[in-house]
Amino acid sequence: MPSPGRRDDRARPVTYQLLIRIDRPRRVRVGRLGTFVFPAGCYVYTGSAKRALEPRVNRHLSRTKRLHWHVDYLLATPGVAVESVRRSGTPECAANRAVGGTVPAPGFGASDCRAGCGSHLRFLGPWPTSGRETGTISHPARATR
Ligand SMILES: [Zn+2]
Repeated sequence: MPSPGRRDDRARPVTYQLLIRIDRPRRVRVGRLGTFVFPAGCYVYTGSAKRALEPRVNRHLSRTKRLHWHVDYLLATPGVAVESVRRSGTPECAANRAVGGTVPAPGFGASDCRAGCGSHLRFLGPWPTSGRETGTISHPARATR
């Protein structure tokens, strides 16, 4: 179900951002993209679905699925968890660029990107331990399963 308090969206949400936490450095084979070591910490993955946004988000939150998208490989890794989901009407690439951070795996999630983002997965650094806000996702709504 959509989280409460987001009824005021002017535009219909087309973009979703997953706030991902990795517990310790993890070596992950991301399909044909290659194998990367992801440092422990906080990541934001930005994707979009012009239709059926919620089914896409729910798919990402599901543990049992075929590995198709790059992010599927990451989320299937032990110790990797989606902490929250943010939806917005901001175009995918603009939302991705607003995240900032660094690129842990060049090309990740960017197969369809024509804006030159380089990666739709951004690494923001260590997971905050003191309640410090994290990037653009300030109030994580607990992901429902
Ligand atoms: Zn892009």
